[in-house]
Amino acid sequence: MSARFPTHEVFNQPPPFEDVNLFTSDVALIDAVEREGGGAASGALGVFGQVAGSAEAQERGRLANEHTPKLSTHDRQGRRRDTVTFHPAYHTLMRTSCTEGLHASVWAHLAKKGEARRPGAHVARAGAFYMAAQMEAGHCCPITMTNAAVPVLLQQPDVAAEWLPRILPNTYDPSFAPPGAKTALTLGMGMTEKQGGTDVRAATTKAELVGGGEYRITGHKWFLSAPMSDAFLVLAQAPDGLTCFLMPRFRPDGSVNALHLQRLKDKLGNRSNASAEVEFHGAYARVIGEEGRGVATIIDMVTYTRLDCAVASAGLMRFALANAIHHAEHRSVFDKKLVEQPVMQQVLADMALDVEAAGALAFRLARAFDRAEDPRASAWRRLMTPVTKYWVCKLAPPLAAEAMECLGGNGYVEEAPLARLYREVPVNSIWEGSGNVMALDVARVLQREPAAVQMVMDELLVAAGDDQHLRRAHARLEAMLQEPKLLDARGRALVEALAVLAAATILRAHAPAAVADAFIATRISGDPRQTYGQGLEHADVRAIIARASPSHG
Ligand SMILES: Cc1cc2nc3c(=O)[nH]c(=O)nc-3n(C[C@H](O)[C@H](O)[C@H](O)COP(=O)(O)OP(=O)(O)OC[C@H]3O[C@@H](n4cnc5c(N)ncnc54)[C@H](O)[C@@H]3O)c2cc1C
Repeated sequence: MSARFPTHEVFNQPPPFEDVNLFTSDVALIDAVEREGGGAASGALGVFGQVAGSAEAQERGRLANEHTPKLSTHDRQGRRRDTVTFHPAYHTLMRTSCTEGLHASVWAHLAKKGEARRPGAHVARAGAFYMAAQMEAGHCCPITMTNAAVPVLLQQPDVAAEWLPRILPNTYDPSFAPPGAKTALTLGMGMTEKQGGTDVRAATTKAELVGGGEYRITGHKWFLSAPMSDAFLVLAQAPDGLTCFLMPRFRPDGSVNALHLQRLKDKLGNRSNASAEVEFHGAYARVIGEEGRGVATIIDMVTYTRLDCAVASAGLMRFALANAIHHAEHRSVFDKKLVEQPVMQQVLADMALDVEAAGALAFRLARAFDRAEDPRASAWRRLMTPVTKYWVCKLAPPLAAEAMECLGGNGYVEEAPLARLYREVPVNSIWEGSGNVMALDVARVLQREPAAVQMVMDELLVAAGDDQHLRRAHARLEAMLQEPKLLDARGRALVEALAVLAAATILRAHAPAAVADAFIATRISGDPRQTYGQGLEHADVRAIIARASPSHG
């Protein structure tokens, strides 16, 4: 090559960022998993980190997004088919994550009667999910929905007894066949209709009782992701009000159920994942929970998916930062590596602070799911699920943009993963409760569950210790809580204050001083800023970047 094109010598371009162990190269992740009770899984996470960060897995991620799912509404004789075909890379990604147990590992104890929950199961799963999102984010949608549907199914023991034995195994079966003929099942959900996604009570889809817990559902859903799932948890209006149903793709007699996929959404990102518009033409479904208690029944699913949105967003932020640092470590400008340039150091270190804080909050929340019986953990879970979901998912898009810029022009082209990542990240703050909805949820907890709020505030005060910046931030938050009339309007401010304080207390207690000091100096006590790369001129930016560098392990 060089003989024919003597001028074509490639230099000063970084080596590809691939074949990186996403676990052993991520010091903050290793620490967070250990700290929050998932340390026993470290070995397994190291193995999965190698798989998820391999060049093959990253290439599958690219292929699955470039060759998007295709809907087939009818066969060539005009009969309805309502199937979606995916690129083989998508199925391999699904198989990788299901084999790792990401669709149900926290429920593994249910496979044997009387078995206890596995300690640290949520934190261990969060560790792997954080890396699965970096491998490819779109396929995480059916993975997270299957995991989150389990606690809802448990509310209807006869349905759970039938479905769980095929949901729990660590296998993947993409065939379009009745559940009894499959080795593995995945689940989706249908709540959003054209006239209302947040306000699900506005649902117009009707459910008519057939008998024995069976209903016929007529109506539509405006978003139904992963439409090739084996069944969906769906909300519809029954005679006694909005009710939750399990709607399988096949009827018990083995015929295809009446879900008519109308079209697939043409989405900004998340393109490997299909999201359909669907009509139900008297579709067969089974009731889950009591008629009229649909929202109360399905809310568990939403809580689990909110945890995953935060974990996945934190993982994507980590991947963006790791790419940026990798580039800066290898690229020289004006005879000096970018990572040695003072302004770039400010930018990289500043992003690293948000990445570590986002991970710290997400894994702290996962631990609260592991210790549900402990009242303090349960208070944390109630208040901090919407706080963490809001804050982490909101941080991700600006961080992704800044990380992309660190790669210069290379960041903006599709061959680098950052362009796809940038298009992917906003979805996590839109679905499963958008930003305002999270803020309103927090305001609701503040108004209606004072005991839970007090427990979290007490915990934060103890964690603040004698750090005067943290104590003042805590006092400011307490003062805001004393004005109940303003809670709704101040929803976002409260959420942000809670998130930043909680993250800062975790970093103060557990992260190196360089990280904790700089986070507190810029996010709690520093001058207001609007973009990355400011306020760290007195910080140990080298230490912060060295900790975040993916060149470890
Ligand atoms: C890629 C993708 C896949 C999806 N997959 C699924 C799926 O599988 N199943 C499913 O059921 N849904 C799915 N959704 C739908 C998603 O959950 C909804 O879009 C989301 O809940 C918002 O509902 P909406 O679109 O009706 O917006 P609206 O409810 O109209 O909300 C619009 C805006 O108003 C804000 N808002 C709402 N209420 C208030 C209020 N009281 N005060 C202030 N602001 C408010 C919201 O925060 C939002 O920003 C998917 C969406 C996307 C983008």
